Amino acid sequence: MHLVIIGNGIAGVTCAQTVRRLQPEARITLVSDETAHHFSRPALMYLYMGHLRWPDVKPFEDWYWSENRLELVHDRATGLDVASKQVHLAAGPSLAYDALLLATGATTRYYGWPGQELAGVQGLVSLADVELMSQQTTNVQQAVVVGGGLIGVELAEMLRSRGIGVTLLVRDRHYWGSVLPPEEAALVDAQLRRHGVQVRYGTELAAALGDAQGRVRAVRTSGGEELPCQWLGIATGVEPNLALTTGTPIETDRGILVDDWLRTSAPDVYAAGDCAQRRTPPPGEAAIEPLWYTGRMQGETVAHTICGQPTAYRRGPWFNSAKFFDLEYQTYGQVPARPVAGQTSFWWQHPGGHCGLRLHYTDDAQQTLLGVNALGLRLRHDVCDQWLRAGASVRAVIEQLGAANFDPEFFPQHEPAIVAAFNTHHPNHPPLTLRRRKGLLARLLSV
Ligand SMILES: Cc1cc2nc3c(=O)[nH]c(=O)nc-3n(C[C@H](O)[C@H](O)[C@H](O)COP(=O)(O)OP(=O)(O)OC[C@H]3O[C@@H](n4cnc5c(N)ncnc54)[C@H](O)[C@@H]3O)c2cc1C
Repeated sequence: MHLVIIGNGIAGVTCAQTVRRLQPEARITLVSDETAHHFSRPALMYLYMGHLRWPDVKPFEDWYWSENRLELVHDRATGLDVASKQVHLAAGPSLAYDALLLATGATTRYYGWPGQELAGVQGLVSLADVELMSQQTTNVQQAVVVGGGLIGVELAEMLRSRGIGVTLLVRDRHYWGSVLPPEEAALVDAQLRRHGVQVRYGTELAAALGDAQGRVRAVRTSGGEELPCQWLGIATGVEPNLALTTGTPIETDRGILVDDWLRTSAPDVYAAGDCAQRRTPPPGEAAIEPLWYTGRMQGETVAHTICGQPTAYRRGPWFNSAKFFDLEYQTYGQVPARPVAGQTSFWWQHPGGHCGLRLHYTDDAQQTLLGVNALGLRLRHDVCDQWLRAGASVRAVIEQLGAANFDPEFFPQHEPAIVAAFNTHHPNHPPLTLRRRKGLLARLLSV
C-alpha cells in the first residue's frame, strides 16, 4: 500500500507513525509545503520570543524520518485526481496513492475588513507567519490585536516580550465571553493588565487604515474610535484549509466532510485534524476541532481505518489547555460560560487572585461532575478524564482532589482551602474531608 499524506502537522505525522507500526511494509509519503520536517505549532510563539530555537520545536531528529522509512516531500500539492488516484505537485512528479490522507490544517480567518490587505496586517498560523511577524514588528511601538481568544493573548504576549505596546480588541463584554465564565475571565483580565496589555471590551475591528506606503497606520473600531498602530494582529479564529478539494468531487462544508471513520466522500480519501469537519458529531461536540491533541487522536484513529481496522473517532471528554502569560489554563468536560438550567457550579479562588478552580455539576441529588476549569493550578489529565467518564459526584471529586494535583511536591497545595470553601458553600450537607494522597517522597520511601 502507498499512503500519501498531505500535511506534516500533528494529524498527518501521527497517522504516518501509526500506519508504520500497524503495517511495517507500507510505503508512506508525507507532503508539506511549509517545512521539510514536522514541528510543534503551539511552540511557534517561543521562536519569536527567543525562548526556543528552530531545532527545539522539532519533536524528532532529522534522521528519524529515513530511519522509519517515512518519505518526506517538501512541495505543494496543487491538485487531486481522485478517479486515477493521483496527487499533483507544484515542482515534483505526481504521486500515485492507494490511500490519501488530507491533513492540510487551517488558515487565518479574515472577515473582509477594509484595509486587511495592508502591510503589517496578519494572522498567526504558520512558520512563515512568525517570520513575517518578526520582520514586520521591528521598530514597531504600538500594535493592535483583534480577537479575544487564545491566539489573541499569545500575540499580545509575543509583542509585549519585545516591549511593544498592545491594545487587544475583544468583541464580548469580558475576555473570551463565549467560553469562560466571568470569574475565570476576570483572572485572565488581571493577568493581561499586569503585563501592560490595554483591553477594549465590547469592541470590534471596523477597518485598518493605511499610510501612503500601503502600511497600516491605525485601526478604526466599531465604536468609531481611531487607534494608531504600526502592526495589526488578526486572531479571530481559523478556518479549515480546503484549497486542495476545489474542483474535486470531495464534499466540503466549512471543512472537509468526514464520517465517524474520518472517510471523505471520495473512495480511499480521508481527512483529519484542523481541516476535517465531522458530518454527525455526537451531541455537545463540535464538528471541527482545531486543536493539537484532537489532531493527534484523529491521526491515530484514521490510521487504523486505513490499515483495515475500521475505528470510529471517539474523542471522549473535552480537554484543552493554554497559557495566559504566566497563568496556566486547563479545562475538562463541559463548563458553560453562562448559567444553564439544571446545572450549577462551585468556584474557588485564591485570595491573592493567583489561581482558581471551578467544578461544574448537575443540580440534582447525584451532583454529577460535568466539567472542570483550572487556572493557575495544574491538574492531572488522567484523573479528571476518569472522573468525567465515570460520572463521579462532585462530593467524591472534592474528597479526592489531592489525586488530581499534577505534582504535589512541586505545585502548591490548595486542596485544604478548596475543601473548606466547598463546605462553607454547602452548609446543609455533612462536611467533607480531603482524602490524603501519598506524596512522591512518601511513595518513594515506601517502596
Ligand atoms: C500559534 C498557535 C498556537 C496554538 N496553540 C495550541 C495549544 O496550545 N493547544 C492546542 O491544542 N492547539 C493549539 N493550536 C492549534 C494546533 O496547533 C492545531 O490544531 C494543530 O497544529 C493542527 O494540526 P494539523 O495536523 O491538523 O494541521 P497543521 O499543523 O496546520 O498542518 C497542516 C500542514 O499541511 C500543509 N499543507 C496544507 N496544504 C498543503 C498543500 N496543498 N500541499 C502541501 N502541504 C500543504 C500546511 O502548510 C501545514 O504545514 C495552536 C495553533 C497556533 C497557530
